[in-house]
Amino acid sequence: RPTIFWHRRDLRFPDNAGLYRALKAGGPVLPIFIFDQEILRKLEDPRDARVTFIHRSVTELAEAYRSMGSDLRVYYGKPLEVWAGIVKDLQPRAVYTNRDYEPYARERDGAVEALLEKAGATFHHYKDHLIFEGKEVQKNDGGPYTVYTPFWNKWRERLKSRMSTFEGKEISYYLKPYPNEKYAKNLLPVAKPGKIISLQEMGFEPARTDFPPTEVSRKLIQHYDETRDFPGTEGTSRLGVHFRHGTISIREKARRAQGLNETYLKELVWRDFYSNILQHFPYVVEGPFREEYAAIPWENNEDHFAAWCAGRTGVPLVDAGMRQLNATGYMHNRVRMIVASYLTKHLLINWQWGEHYFAKKLLDFELASNNGGWQWAASCGTDAQPYFRIFNYESQQKKFDPDFTYVKAWVPEFGTPEYPSEPLVEHKFGRERALEVYKKALAEA
Ligand code: FAD
Repeated sequence: RPTIFWHRRDLRFPDNAGLYRALKAGGPVLPIFIFDQEILRKLEDPRDARVTFIHRSVTELAEAYRSMGSDLRVYYGKPLEVWAGIVKDLQPRAVYTNRDYEPYARERDGAVEALLEKAGATFHHYKDHLIFEGKEVQKNDGGPYTVYTPFWNKWRERLKSRMSTFEGKEISYYLKPYPNEKYAKNLLPVAKPGKIISLQEMGFEPARTDFPPTEVSRKLIQHYDETRDFPGTEGTSRLGVHFRHGTISIREKARRAQGLNETYLKELVWRDFYSNILQHFPYVVEGPFREEYAAIPWENNEDHFAAWCAGRTGVPLVDAGMRQLNATGYMHNRVRMIVASYLTKHLLINWQWGEHYFAKKLLDFELASNNGGWQWAASCGTDAQPYFRIFNYESQQKKFDPDFTYVKAWVPEFGTPEYPSEPLVEHKFGRERALEVYKKALAEA
């Protein structure tokens, strides 16, 4: 009876927490991956680049296992049905995996665990996606943090609270890599590799292949503070998609950041922060963290929303951002904040419309971070900017894209008569309207 390791958002062999535990327990370990029909059927675009990314990563992972004399068994279907089949065919002794904190995943895992239990198999899950999860970073009174800076301070304290050594250096125990290669002999030997379902067989088409690399130069991380806010330069790491799918290890990147640049490490910790928020307050998926903000009477003008989505608002930075997103699946963080602010404050459109649009388009889409980012912009989240601080898109332009490098890269007609001479909603009017509407709604809530 084999042990099964179930890959989900951890598409790598090295430094994989749950896989390490499975291998160390003795094996033989058969790794598997399921293309989840429940998730795939909800995707509208047959060229969704995320499916191509996952497919490519799964194929590479299978090759890695094959080079070790084993294989990655790839299934396609509804997870519970797939698991019913696995139980029948393989009669696993135990199933290992890494934790996924999204509400859908928790429910799915609960159902799989119950099914396995009935079949006499044990289910083991581990932390791998984050440095610290759930209850690990909490206030002294035991409650969760809802403001980033104290979370970060406690996070850092916790990191240093348990030390270990790696390659002759003292490092935090929590950043130590798992030496999976040491136990590769415990993988199930597979003589004839299985077939991996194609994208087309699942109803998708290959999208782009120019995904960002998994490695970032030392120089970029060192100079991150100076470059990260300028969307016209290559000043950020572009690792989001790899963190999302676990094609890199968060421990490895955090270890590296720790020695090079604390600002970068702090950005990585935002992932932990927003995931912690989602774990403690799962209702944020459905509505505002500050529930009184549900009372805001959004304008929700559909034409304005369509113009925002298409990058035709007449605000150059907003238009450039939306076009970058539509063309590449990526948008620079500074611009994400600006487009989100423009949608929720100037256009007075419900932040959830923006959240869902980003969820469809972002290659690095991560439920917790996206939700957190949107709630921050709409001022209704944990640690949000106060509603009376409204981004002025003109001063943002002057500060962060002063010579319009970014705008010109994405809005070729900018500066010609083809480009709108007026924004959909102008700053002064939009700001005053938002202040009035937010203030009134909150006073009455
Ligand atoms: P870098 O600047 O190089 O940062 C490195 C890594 O740190 C990122 O890859 C990411 O994992 C993490 N990180 C940085 N900033 C944040 C942050 N504010 N919140 C959480 N993690 C962060 N990030 C996502 O990963 N997925 C999303 O769906 C997402 N949606 C967002 C929506 C809005 C409205 C806003 C304002 C921000 C959103 N972010 C999201 C956060 C941030 O914009 C992206 O993580 C970042 O732009 C990704 O590019 P990068 O990898 O070059 O980042």
